[in-house]
Amino acid sequence: MEQNTDSQRKRILIVEDEPAIADNIAFAVETENMLPLHAATAGKAWEFLQRETVDLVVLDVGLPDENGFDFCRRIRAQSDVPIIFLTARKEEIDRIVGLEIGADDYMAKPFSPRELTARIRAILRRTNGHLPPSKSAEPEPMFSVDQKTKTVFYKGHALELSRYEFRMLELMIRHPGQVFSRDQLMEYAWEEPDASYDRTVDTHIKTLRSKLRTVDPDSDCLQTRRGFGYSLRAEK
Ligand code: CA
Repeated sequence: MEQNTDSQRKRILIVEDEPAIADNIAFAVETENMLPLHAATAGKAWEFLQRETVDLVVLDVGLPDENGFDFCRRIRAQSDVPIIFLTARKEEIDRIVGLEIGADDYMAKPFSPRELTARIRAILRRTNGHLPPSKSAEPEPMFSVDQKTKTVFYKGHALELSRYEFRMLELMIRHPGQVFSRDQLMEYAWEEPDASYDRTVDTHIKTLRSKLRTVDPDSDCLQTRRGFGYSLRAEK
């Protein structure tokens, strides 16, 4: 089989000032047959983005010359390129999960480079579909999301979801294992949380579960975390 040339490989811009972390990511990206590009500052990354196109940006929040959130907004003002944040601080995660920033995903440091490349591939899959086969032959994910048609696929089957169910499930798919409180889910999924007090999160979770069980009767991936809320089981 012919090797992919550089022009065919997905171009991943890594904006990270810590050389060891940047190297680790670059290595993992390279292993996945994608092309790593590196900038140690927001300034350098900005210059690069004016000249070149990239398929995805991995963006450290703590950069020496500019806050990653501000930099993300600048990128968003001119491009829809997918962005994954790297963050070392818990309070930053809350801002990212609030999703006002325009990021597609985030990873909390320390993270596994392999998990990062899995997220990169998942995002590229839903943004433009075409990817070279992974060298490490990742298993197909349990869930995939088509944002264009607002469809969630569970084990390859399209689910018929209401808007609220779609938004809640899609949020949890992006953050497997993370526990979301009812308030967080409602805040995210409902445009006017107060207007829909009669349509509780619990009811929607219940119908979501039964829809997952029409695909797999043994499905238990949508978990109740008593006293906390709900989470999606992380393993495949
Ligand atoms: Ca940093």
